[in-house]
Amino acid sequence: MIERGASAFANPRNAAAGSLRQLDSKVTAKRPLSFYSYEIMSMEGAAEPSSHTEELELLKKWGFKVYSRYRLCEDIEEAIDFHTSLSKERDTLPFEIDGVVIKVNSKILAENVGSRSRSPRWAIAFKFKARREITTVEDIVVQVGRTGKLTPVALLNPVDVSGVTVSRATLHNADEVAKKDIRVHDTVRIERAGDVIPAVVERITTNTARGEVFSMPSRCPVCDSAIIKDGAYHFCSGGLSCPSQLKRSITHFASRGAMDIEYLGEKTVGAMVERGILNSVEDIYKLNNKSILELEGFAEKSAQNLLGAIEKSKTIPLARFIFALGIRNIGEHTARLLSDHFESMERLAGASYEDLIEINAIGPEAAGSIIRFFADKKKIKIIDSLLSSGVTPYIENGARSRKFKDMTFVFTGTLKEFTREEAKDIVISLGGRVSSSISAKTDYLVAGESPGSKYNKAQKLGVSILSEEGFKELISK
Ligand SMILES: [Zn+2]
Repeated sequence: MIERGASAFANPRNAAAGSLRQLDSKVTAKRPLSFYSYEIMSMEGAAEPSSHTEELELLKKWGFKVYSRYRLCEDIEEAIDFHTSLSKERDTLPFEIDGVVIKVNSKILAENVGSRSRSPRWAIAFKFKARREITTVEDIVVQVGRTGKLTPVALLNPVDVSGVTVSRATLHNADEVAKKDIRVHDTVRIERAGDVIPAVVERITTNTARGEVFSMPSRCPVCDSAIIKDGAYHFCSGGLSCPSQLKRSITHFASRGAMDIEYLGEKTVGAMVERGILNSVEDIYKLNNKSILELEGFAEKSAQNLLGAIEKSKTIPLARFIFALGIRNIGEHTARLLSDHFESMERLAGASYEDLIEINAIGPEAAGSIIRFFADKKKIKIIDSLLSSGVTPYIENGARSRKFKDMTFVFTGTLKEFTREEAKDIVISLGGRVSSSISAKTDYLVAGESPGSKYNKAQKLGVSILSEEGFKELISK
């Protein structure tokens, strides 16, 4: 990926999952994925293996790849010995491992031992010691994450931790730095465990010229917004206007539960922010064919698709618009409550702390977040700009919202102009219900291209069947 100039996967798990999730199976086939199998989930037509080793041999016989280095141990000492010897070979293996799984071999015993809610009692991970090295701290900087969380990071004299050069390690939060009393020039022990970000474990020696005691900045180092403390953590209050939070915020804004702008995923947003095409969520509605075509991977057709998706996102339920703004502590559900209660952005923006706390399920934390958000003039400017770009939030319990009151819709087949999710949203916004199965109580079956068995069932039951055109006509009336 790096050679091709694309962004690399964060870790092997993401690489595998990302490859399997490809819509085009031909793309998946091109990726050199491989796996070791170790468990049969269910089988029919043959005797089930009575032990785990038998199970592995059976898998091998069937042609599945099975890792050959497993060992049947007679007792726990033997298992510990195996763990010790494998930990010494760890660096020579063709893949990264962080330990050994010890399992009960007999299937009957394993079944008797049973499982806890999330993990089996008959298998347990015996982890290797995290890899540790010693180095010195050259500087302590503060990083701003996607939620605005500030993380103190130690910049280190680069050190090799079993094949990986580590030059930064997290210090988690201000309390941790204080507790471990880590300062510039100190000699520290750092740790790297599997996929986890390297961390500073402890200070080993105090060098003569110690740096000053670390303290969190009072303004965001990136955007100069005020810093808010929440528990052990500090947050930049800049939200959408903080460049560090920008990529992630825009991605959130465009995501499915929010403005739902198809084709505007993390990668595209990242590329657009880097190119300076997107500096704020407002810029999404200023994109044009020319600016999109400058990006790698975009052609005339895909640029048109993106612009179409952006245009379509303008008409949006108020609840989703509130959620899209990325107000701290305001998830999809709370956004819906706020939309139902205030019924307009203006009224929400003007709400007092008391007004907010009055709503069931809005606690002091959420209320405080909302007040802080709307007290920020920059946020108001962004909202105004979005509205004047044509974003039109609608209230789901307005007059139109009773149009489909007590009506049930069922969808089948593929619609050309809507995703299922969009069509569902429209029906709900007009007061109707969407069901997944046909019954005599169904009011309308909306049938797209290549409808399923629901079509025949609807005919039998005498349910009204609408084409996509018919549906469009019905909702626009
Ligand atoms: Zn900031």
